[in-house]
Amino acid sequence: MRILVVEDEHRIANSIKKGLEQEKYAVDVAYTGEDGYDLASSEEYDVLILDLMLPKMDGITICRELRKNNKHVPILILTAKSQLEDKVVGLNSGADDYLTKPFSFEELIARIRALVRRPKINLGSVLKVADLTLDTLTFVAKRGKENITLSSKEFSLLEYLMRNSGKILSKDNIISHVWDYDADILPNTVEVYIKALRNKIDHGHKKLLIQTVRGFGYKLTN
Ligand code: CA
Repeated sequence: MRILVVEDEHRIANSIKKGLEQEKYAVDVAYTGEDGYDLASSEEYDVLILDLMLPKMDGITICRELRKNNKHVPILILTAKSQLEDKVVGLNSGADDYLTKPFSFEELIARIRALVRRPKINLGSVLKVADLTLDTLTFVAKRGKENITLSSKEFSLLEYLMRNSGKILSKDNIISHVWDYDADILPNTVEVYIKALRNKIDHGHKKLLIQTVRGFGYKLTN
């Protein structure tokens, strides 16, 4: 899952980025409203964390403009403003949730999880496809009863594949949801990670879950 943090206070922005990376998210940071809006418009994010008082373009305007341009990324507003009126304006402008500073990091994480949750395929924090399960809180993967140890990026890749199981995902889709903007990943790298993941989850099993769709990308099948 890839998250954009738009926050002009560097200290806060960087501590959010660090914390989210520990939770295995790919994180980009924009320090002005304008940069945030440009990134949110041109890149694929799973959640946008947005401060309200920003230089160059404020958070409410960013929300409105993104929604006007049919960008449906879940938006969590993060701000020092605690008045009810500001919350209402924020939510009316197209934000999905609201968190007032100072906030606990645990609450931020819980709210992000709620925003990316897909009720159909997500049973609490555990994703399940065929006999493969992935606990997104403990980062434990299992095929049947067998525990699988994943690296941080393998976890992110598998989570993305599982949340989109049955869909064909191009290497570009994968790159833009699993790595941050600065990562500079080549399609070749995706192949390497897919191969490693296959070795861990499909090796020795009759039913192969990761399918290659020639010329298009990959698909995790049920
Ligand atoms: Ca601010």
